[in-house]
Amino acid sequence: MPLKLVYHNHYDLHFGAHVFPSQKYRLICETLLREKFAAAEDFLVPEPAADEDVLRVHTADWVRKLKTGTLTLSEITKLEVPYSREMVEAVWLAAGGTILAARHALADGIAVNVGGGFHHAFPGHGEGFCAIHDIAVAVRRVQADGAVRKAMVVDTDVHQGNGTAAIFSDDPSVFTFSIHQEHNYPDPKPPSTVDLHLPDGVGDEEYLRTLSAPLREALDEFRPDVVFYVGGADPYHEDMLGGLALSLAGLARRDRLVFEEARKRGIPVAVTLAGGYARSIDDTVKIHVNTILAARDVMGAYPRQRQSSGGNQDAPGKTGQPASGVQ
Ligand SMILES: [Zn+2]
Repeated sequence: MPLKLVYHNHYDLHFGAHVFPSQKYRLICETLLREKFAAAEDFLVPEPAADEDVLRVHTADWVRKLKTGTLTLSEITKLEVPYSREMVEAVWLAAGGTILAARHALADGIAVNVGGGFHHAFPGHGEGFCAIHDIAVAVRRVQADGAVRKAMVVDTDVHQGNGTAAIFSDDPSVFTFSIHQEHNYPDPKPPSTVDLHLPDGVGDEEYLRTLSAPLREALDEFRPDVVFYVGGADPYHEDMLGGLALSLAGLARRDRLVFEEARKRGIPVAVTLAGGYARSIDDTVKIHVNTILAARDVMGAYPRQRQSSGGNQDAPGKTGQPASGVQ
């Protein structure tokens, strides 16, 4: 693999019999190894995010409640997942994983966290299976490192990235882009910088047509130093929580489009996986594996270019750490 895969054995969220198949992370890695798409040395094991990193995004109160197991009943109901120590450990690891993937993306061009994508978490509460927002934590961390100035989140999960939109609503250094099913959770949808609201039942061609021009425009106008790609598997036609109708091939074309447009512009991409609730877990695993293979193929097809305007020179809060600094 020309790219690093970040994974920890404790990514499993231990939801038990739940619509969220939290064993999928392990199955994705096993598939990559079994099919010889990846070797053991392609994998990196993350540390949990530091509380200091999590607190750049989340309130001290929410962090304390998660760590001490003192969520109220209504907070657990909103989260829609059972509370456990394992779940808290898993989401701290996922945030550390997205930080590590971001750093390797900056060094290598693309890197994948085989986990994360918890885009429904808000600063002071969790919802929609998402307790802390790993992507926002990673954005804030690489900005604090001085490694990037401007970041873009490109979210193709079938559900709008409401946490992302809310966290960065007043922050001109982060562009939030979401393409999702309009008549689905969440409701309301706090506005992203760009929201592409799709009607029910949209298939491959209409989806790709809707995505491509606004994505190119956003990249050209904003010129981010890094893209965080939230590659949800749930726009799939067999998804139990989604109402779009993309095929496996259409989802792979979607991934390739995002990687190509960023790569052509010399913009590094840090990938997270997000939702996937296909009737068959094999399909969910296949969609996520295909995302990783699309990243690999695009890296091969488009040799890396230097970006014309990096974020290093004039980044506020620069700490002098190199962009490629890896824990
Ligand atoms: Zn989703």
